[in-house]
Amino acid sequence: MNLIIVGKPGAGKGSVAEVFKEKSDIIHLSTGDIFRKEMKEHTTLGELALSYIGKGQLVPDSVTNDIIYKILEKNPSGSYLFDGYPRTVNQAECLEQMMEKLNMKLDLVCDLEVKDDLVIFRLSGRRVCKSCGTIYHVINHPPKKDGICDVCNGEVIQRADDKEEAIKARLNVYQNQTKPLIDYYKAKGLLRSVDGDQSALDVYLDIMEILDNEKGR
Ligand code: AMP
Repeated sequence: MNLIIVGKPGAGKGSVAEVFKEKSDIIHLSTGDIFRKEMKEHTTLGELALSYIGKGQLVPDSVTNDIIYKILEKNPSGSYLFDGYPRTVNQAECLEQMMEKLNMKLDLVCDLEVKDDLVIFRLSGRRVCKSCGTIYHVINHPPKKDGICDVCNGEVIQRADDKEEAIKARLNVYQNQTKPLIDYYKAKGLLRSVDGDQSALDVYLDIMEILDNEKGR
């Protein structure tokens, strides 16, 4: 099974992916996580990514498509959950070509629908452990000791792209570059909408129900 989750930044794509990882063998493919790892290791790709991500902009399609192809070609028979990719129509077209070449099939695209004010609340309050990546929220789920990760004692920080200016830029990028994907996949009959205002577990259960219904058709 190959599944794409699309949605605004802060829609909860990563949290839903965590539930999928717990409950299935699906491979979580998050381009955001890949870029963050490269940035942490100060690689050439990481430095390039940082120059876009810090401003809330997208990393160029050619770079991102290349990363995905290299992963898929190593294991085309795996089940993938695409989180944060594709993010432009160009990336979606490229993914389609890659899948065709590798004999892969896209089963479903889930659009996680959330209201803008919830997205801003989630992103501006989000904090993350610099070492192990555990996610916190200043109001909903703060670490027990301020600034220190409960899991590994690492430093809990705010992501550069969760600062107010970058959030605004990311929402604009979503509106202009990512939202057209909704129509793209709707036209292909692959798009289903899911209520992203609920818990990650409930979103997961909704997606599983959709997948079951699709199988029964
Ligand atoms: P995310 O964790 O998915 O919100 O991604 C964090 C940032 O990484 C985004 O705001 C973009 O700057 C960059 N990024 C992640 N995925 C992509 C993609 N598919 N194409 C271009 N840039 C991306």
